[in-house]
Amino acid sequence: MKNIAVIGAGTMGNGIAHVFAQTNYKVNLIDISQDSLDKGMAIINKNLDRLIAKEKITQSDKEATLKNLSTYTSIENGVKSADLVVEAATENVDLKLKIFEQLESYAPAACILASNTSSISITKIASATKRPDKVIGMHFMNPVPIMKLIEIIRGYSTSEETMNVIIELSKSLSKIPVEANDYPGFVANRILVPMINEAIYTLHEGVAGVEEIDQVMMLGMAHPMGPLQLADFVGLDVALSICNVLYEGFGNPKYAPCPLLVNMVQAGKLGVKSGEGFYSYAGGYKNKEVSGQFK
Ligand code: NAD
Repeated sequence: MKNIAVIGAGTMGNGIAHVFAQTNYKVNLIDISQDSLDKGMAIINKNLDRLIAKEKITQSDKEATLKNLSTYTSIENGVKSADLVVEAATENVDLKLKIFEQLESYAPAACILASNTSSISITKIASATKRPDKVIGMHFMNPVPIMKLIEIIRGYSTSEETMNVIIELSKSLSKIPVEANDYPGFVANRILVPMINEAIYTLHEGVAGVEEIDQVMMLGMAHPMGPLQLADFVGLDVALSICNVLYEGFGNPKYAPCPLLVNMVQAGKLGVKSGEGFYSYAGGYKNKEVSGQFK
């Protein structure tokens, strides 16, 4: 594998492109928005500078990484010589089905098509193509250049050959692949999101305050970040949409999203990306304060 196309230059897409380019793959980063591509490339630049400052890479490694990256606003042009496409566009099932239909038309027949979806069925995404054996979940964790795990999701028709190729490729990125089957939330979000939802219920029912809930999980369970802060980091809209996938996918009321989470998303309090969630980030990420609503 040499040529990788990454679709979506947002939070995850630019991180995925960075990691492949730094490992000397040729990467085409594709987004419908030129603005997203510019922002994505600026973030990659900044993250490479950070690695230089920490003496993890040299200036010439940075230049080589940037040389491996090209940007495109058209899927048709960006995927035509790809060996692997990693789709990291917005979490929306109709959008992903449309993108995979386009990939079926424009990517070479041998190309493996991976999705970085947090929760949408890989089997459903594969149904938009005529090569479901070559469709797979490659669920990177945020922030991609730092986190070691890639959850590798086997769709109903994913072949063993596709699994093996992607597992070896993940190792070549110095990541640790872990296999999972295609059920709602896979492993990571099936466990993480109900914990976040339960933390929100704990707050909603007045059992404890925002900082107290986060402290219990950090000091008592050795979590590096409390669940409410983590919800702000992931995005409350993303957490809500994964809750709904679990709720609908299993038909089990235990996954019902907490009404406080629903209200906060409707009020536009989405966490770090909107400046406020359970905490307020007006003074920057490092100077967060408990949001006025919860004081
Ligand atoms: P994001 O909103 O930061 O970025 C999405 C990008 O997709 C945007 O730049 C948008 O312009 C682009 N896009 C939308 N439609 C497109 C199209 N038709 N063609 C090309 N580009 C298109 O989202 P994100 O947080 O990077 O999430 C991307 C995917 O990764 C989602 O499936 C999400 O569930 C998954 N994911 C997110 C996280 C996380 O912590 N944010 C973690 C793991 C997985």
